Amino acid sequence: MNIGVLGGGQLGRMLALAGYPLGHDFVFLDPAPEALCGLGSHLVAQPDDARALAELASRVDLVTYEFENVPAAAARTLAERVPVYPSPAALEVSQDRLHEKTLFRSLGIPTGPFAPIDSSETLATAVEAVGTPAVLKTRRLGYDGKGQRVVGGPDELAPAWAALGKVPCLLEGFVRFERELSCLAVRGRDGTVAVYPLVENHHEAGILRRSIAPAPAATDQRQADAASFARRLLERLDYVGVLALELFEVDGGLLANEIAPRVHNSGHWTIEGAETSQFENHVRAITGAPLGSVAPVGVSAMVNLIGGWPDPARLLAIAGAHLHLYGKAPRPGRKVGHVTVRCDEPESLAHGLAAVERIVSEGLPRAT
Ligand code: AMP
Repeated sequence: MNIGVLGGGQLGRMLALAGYPLGHDFVFLDPAPEALCGLGSHLVAQPDDARALAELASRVDLVTYEFENVPAAAARTLAERVPVYPSPAALEVSQDRLHEKTLFRSLGIPTGPFAPIDSSETLATAVEAVGTPAVLKTRRLGYDGKGQRVVGGPDELAPAWAALGKVPCLLEGFVRFERELSCLAVRGRDGTVAVYPLVENHHEAGILRRSIAPAPAATDQRQADAASFARRLLERLDYVGVLALELFEVDGGLLANEIAPRVHNSGHWTIEGAETSQFENHVRAITGAPLGSVAPVGVSAMVNLIGGWPDPARLLAIAGAHLHLYGKAPRPGRKVGHVTVRCDEPESLAHGLAAVERIVSEGLPRAT
């Protein structure tokens, strides 16, 4: 099939790398001429360019996205011409933190306290409902910790809201989590659901640095809860494709933070660490093929390469290490690749991960 993808970053590239062996071809819509480094066909245009959308629809059998901040109107326009998976409705929910958290609540999925802020009058009611410390987030267009402010006390809320441009926001209680987890799940066109093992995620400055999968010491109960939350979301949204659910683990269980309606950075380990990668399963789901097994193959750790990368030979010398460079120019804060270490036992994984971390922390970012 010819698959259209809105967005042309590394997630699209890895989707294509998984989809070509299954006989599919890809057309990407992305405004950056250098996106994807020659993989697939590339329409260089903004995602709201009507002519480009019409051309994309005429060239593909179905459309998906690798980036959730594409205009929902673009997805809807495309959906009038070709199937779009996941649906534009699922995309829209994930674009607005208030809608997302309201959906969690309506499905009985626990969250921390939250309240919307859309005017000066709502500041006081929100802080009363949520308390402090809190995190103020823009409802739309936030990612990698952007569009967020920690609010230490009630007096800090008004300046924080002003600093975010007084756009509609969500005030969330600051969650003192034990750790961050994510749950990647996939639903096929026939409604079949498969859920990967929970992943443990470590962020720094709001950016994912490292994932470990399966999440060490995750209880069966936690896994079952996460799978149940993911299944409820997939079914309510009549979702087709991979969905990522980000969670906080707290004393009493799991709290949902947000969803991404696409393959996710915390699922990159599945390329080597699961029977079927998240990318292949997304392609299988949207093309109506049977889903592949989501069983882990040993244990894995994924380290993001941010801002640059060390000498590849040093990383590749580590037993069990697999390097993925995205072909992107290095720039501070930019994800330019990742390394996955996959091993049969946790002990060898710990050694491999420590070796990767040492090299990544030592090496000056390289562009060659
Ligand atoms: P988000 O954009 O919602 O994924 O937030 C980025 C990161 O900020 C998360 O992965 C957490 O590390 C942190 N964070 C977000 N929301 C909260 C919260 N309500 N309480 C504590 N930390 C948070």
